Amino acid sequence: MISLDPSARACKHKPMSNPTLTINTDTIVANWQALGALSGGAVQTGAVVKADAYGLGVGPVAKRLANAGASRFFVALASEGAELRAVLGPAAEINIFSGHMQGDTDLISRHKLTPILNSPEQLLRHQEMGKLHPFGIQIDTGMGRLGMQPLDWLALNHEQLRPSLVMSHLACSDEPDHPMNAQQLSVFKELTDGLGYQRSLSATGGILLGPDYHFDLTRPGIGLYGGLPFEGGRPVVELSLPVVQIRDLQPGDTVGYGNTWTARNKAKIATIAAGYADGLLRSLSNSGQLFAAGTACPIVGRVSMDLITVDVSHLKHAPDTLEILCEQQNIDQLATLGGTIGYEILTSLGPRYKRRYKTA
Ligand SMILES: *Cc1c(COP(=O)(O)O)cnc(C)c1O
Repeated sequence: MISLDPSARACKHKPMSNPTLTINTDTIVANWQALGALSGGAVQTGAVVKADAYGLGVGPVAKRLANAGASRFFVALASEGAELRAVLGPAAEINIFSGHMQGDTDLISRHKLTPILNSPEQLLRHQEMGKLHPFGIQIDTGMGRLGMQPLDWLALNHEQLRPSLVMSHLACSDEPDHPMNAQQLSVFKELTDGLGYQRSLSATGGILLGPDYHFDLTRPGIGLYGGLPFEGGRPVVELSLPVVQIRDLQPGDTVGYGNTWTARNKAKIATIAAGYADGLLRSLSNSGQLFAAGTACPIVGRVSMDLITVDVSHLKHAPDTLEILCEQQNIDQLATLGGTIGYEILTSLGPRYKRRYKTA
């Protein structure tokens, strides 16, 4: 049984209450520490907070992690780095995965961001800022997405280059037995052994591959937020959705766009105030489920933009709210029902939810 949080109980008296996304920032810290413990004291554990901390709110999330001792943060874009600097103040190191793109110089300079450079062009552009402004370099060891090509990397003058970090990214780290992991590891070592640079190879999945993959710094994202492949992580979010109305259906009545669901017996259908515009994927139509104090209730009919219809015929009492992320259903279980991954569930959670931050 889950215990309804006080705001959910208050819905009884406030039927227009908002959908509420509850984010436990202490659990994020606990997950960060658990991932850190996997790689031991000599390895620094960074924190990836791109895409608004995977949809959970970069301000409260990054601040809480910094209070717990995180000092090295990663975002995708310089604009995200500028926002993060305002949250964290001058001490934290903020790395930008997309590097130094045209038009970024002003943000990088003003907010003291550290771009992770991905090409000789980016390196030239960055060096125009002067030799003192820090940077890292990403090498593409086989992912084929972002990073400097090995030949370009080898052609650099390593006597004079002073990157604060050299990193690469694994393509298949969520599949421990995939031969690509060992192959990328060996390419990364071949390209960087003996050069004396600080190195990083692993996101959440790579941390789980063991110490060979840890180098000096790890870069977990999804594992902080309770997602796979980190099975040891604890769920961070709960999502509670108010019931707008409950309708009584007769056998043969249909529900929703396209009449995709027909009542075989008398039924009670609860209509919920959230839909695919809020990240509750349309692929959950006739396949997802919500929970009423721990009891599963199937989604019937199509998920629409702002509304979901749920069969609550079997409940003893009409619910005021239903939970879609809760003790009985985490982001990866919901993702499986919707044909996607936990990352996409989290980053799709829309701006219409009231985000409530709680500590343990
Ligand atoms: C997003 C990202 C990460 C974090 O990945 P997770 O799988 O969420 O841990 C780390 N490194 C790079 C380069 C990334 O793009």
